[in-house]
Amino acid sequence: MNDRSSRALLERLIGFATVSRDSNLEMIDFIRQYLADLGVESELFYNAERTKANLFATIGPRDRGGIVLSGHTDVVPVDGQAWTVEPFALTERDGRLYGRGTADMKGFIASVLAAVPRFVERERELELPVHLAFSYDEEVGCLGVRSMLADLEKRPHRPVLCLIGEPTELKPVLGHKGKLAMRCSVKGAPCHSAYAPYGVNAIQYAARLINRLEQIGEQLSQPEHHDERFDPPYSTVQTGTIKGGRALNIVPAECEFDFEVRALPGFDAQVVADELQTYADAELLPKMRAVKSDTDIRLQPLSAYPALATSPDSEAARLLALLSGSTEFATVAFGTEGGLFDQAGIPAVVCGPGSMDQGHKPDEFVSVEQMDACEAMLERLMEHLATAR
Ligand SMILES: [Zn+2]
Repeated sequence: MNDRSSRALLERLIGFATVSRDSNLEMIDFIRQYLADLGVESELFYNAERTKANLFATIGPRDRGGIVLSGHTDVVPVDGQAWTVEPFALTERDGRLYGRGTADMKGFIASVLAAVPRFVERERELELPVHLAFSYDEEVGCLGVRSMLADLEKRPHRPVLCLIGEPTELKPVLGHKGKLAMRCSVKGAPCHSAYAPYGVNAIQYAARLINRLEQIGEQLSQPEHHDERFDPPYSTVQTGTIKGGRALNIVPAECEFDFEVRALPGFDAQVVADELQTYADAELLPKMRAVKSDTDIRLQPLSAYPALATSPDSEAARLLALLSGSTEFATVAFGTEGGLFDQAGIPAVVCGPGSMDQGHKPDEFVSVEQMDACEAMLERLMEHLATAR
């Protein structure tokens, strides 16, 4: 098989076990070398420890904006999942390509790399450049891409569009909610449970805070806040993990829980954290400190990314319709780096092969048909870049 086919490239990419906690440098080196062999130079943006990197490359004229093809190189872990195939090797079965990251989102990256020889062949004809932007640490809060964006923001010619190739079954997507993840730590005061009123029960105070979050969530779900483009059509608040207590006969000294806000575009998720802090300061801490002065409630952000809401009347949406062949614009429930590109002044849309129904799950796959359709989309992109003014 041609090793520049999207199938062969996907096989190579799946072989790199780029779980977010581990280095992605082997994969980045492979891509850098692949591009270099085609005469395309890459820029790398490393993390502080130099264990991971973003890659940015341009094909076509340098004196104008162009279109960014964006994907993340990291994948979620396979720990505890019941795979029936080897996750970090490509298995083809009944028209499907299985492996961790096939849908989310090495299938897109492989398609883009497979298109590079054609872009290079026609480089002189390109009226607008195409940029490749491959990031790390997307799955842990869209962390990696930020250093690359900080650099792109400073350049004189800003791209007119970023196409995020997350799996949408190649349907055109203009938006998603933003997310804020927070940790709340309650410091109580321990004592023998027979003397419970003389201690400060951290679990019970955490329970009140969690209740409060649920109430805030209920307020946010009221019809006046709805945006019917999204499912569910309102911002949501959810507590996902909780830890606390050592033994039933000890009043617990600590309790820690993590919660997240999934925020509609235009809603500032920080409002939820602020409201919780106000409740803690006004209602809970005075009671806790009346028993023991060094008790505390602390909120700490874990990660956040902004919502994406590209207007259906924008030039970006027009381009997306051209590429995807559809104006049935949709939104997705999952987050992407799109909101960060948008904040950096690069309008973003989402459209890529495969489905998030398979993302993050055992026996993740992308269909061969989706990979072929993605190739066709990139061919349309090339026509556009060659004929755009
Ligand atoms: Zn993804």
